Amino acid sequence: GKVLVSGANGYIAVWVVRTLLEQGYSVRGAVRSADKGTHLSELFASYGDKFEVVVVPDITKEGAFDEAVKGVDAIEHTASPFHFQADDPAELLEPAIKGTVGILESARKYGTSVKRVVVTSSCAAVLNISPEPQFLSELDWNDQAVKEVEEQGRGASAASKYRASKTLAERAAWDFVKKYKDEIAWDLSVMNPPLVVGPVIHAVTSPDALNTSTRAMYDVFTKPDSASGGGCWVDVRDLALAHVSALQSELAGGERIIIAAGAFTWQDWLDAAPVSSKYQKGAPGAGKDAVHLLRYDNEKGKVLLSLRYRSMEDTAADVVADWEARGW
Ligand code: NDP
Repeated sequence: GKVLVSGANGYIAVWVVRTLLEQGYSVRGAVRSADKGTHLSELFASYGDKFEVVVVPDITKEGAFDEAVKGVDAIEHTASPFHFQADDPAELLEPAIKGTVGILESARKYGTSVKRVVVTSSCAAVLNISPEPQFLSELDWNDQAVKEVEEQGRGASAASKYRASKTLAERAAWDFVKKYKDEIAWDLSVMNPPLVVGPVIHAVTSPDALNTSTRAMYDVFTKPDSASGGGCWVDVRDLALAHVSALQSELAGGERIIIAAGAFTWQDWLDAAPVSSKYQKGAPGAGKDAVHLLRYDNEKGKVLLSLRYRSMEDTAADVVADWEARGW
């Protein structure tokens, strides 16, 4: 089958494209400009015409994906801004929501062969901030961030602006399939990962150009006294496999699924890296007794998508090897 991947040049998406191609799918990768497709075309040259690039300049425009969805069997919608630099929340909310609803609308009208749409949401759309430790599942929704943005606008925290964009975009997707359930021949499956880390295969020439999540890890390994705090994580390769499994598992239809390996403190990552690595070691062991305020139930993904997760040691070793190979 053929799969449309939006935001195909992004960190996660390139791994999704690669995993799809490795499993025999044809891929149409949507990017914002032709130059953003160059690296992809080079990277996947050996797949010949099983990989093609399509340019969708503005995902917020009505009908933006009308042509791109024609003739594909499935869609992986990953395109959405992930950064903490927005002053006006609309900078994040508009492309997140309109991009998601727009691709679904195009699929409804012109995706006559589409069977399933997978949307990359986030644990940002699940979590809540509380002083008490929490164990969250797919039943939880981050309405807290939405409320903060509604009330404070530009004054909301940078994290809340991003999280609100993910909650609102995901809700809009579920609302869409509910509204049009009698008109569409496809169903929706939503991936909710926490922080995504692991080696980089998208076009990045310097650490400054890394995407938000891998940049956070690089900073911890290279900036003095930066290993405080933590969160939950998943390896990008396991997440990519989840995106592909979500196309194959009948049961994944109509489900939002948390894709999370576990909780970490940043010090845990420094501890997990090979002792021989040249990066800073922080205060070894200092994260071991940390109380994790957020944890996620990842059973659903294990059952519906047969997921297995890499260990922190394996991911850390591959990440450090990747940076070293780049001379960073
Ligand atoms: P990247 O920044 O590497 O990729 C983002 C992709 O979205 C790029 O293709 C980018 O295109 C595209 N994009 C961003 N803003 C816009 C916009 N305004 N209009 C059109 N396209 C846009 O990030 P990730 O790979 O990390 O993120 C991919 C998805 O995964 C996002 O939906 C993100 O919310 C989600 N996610 C990421 C997590 C992480 O830790 N990395 C965790 C949980 C979810 P361009 O290059 O042209 O800007």
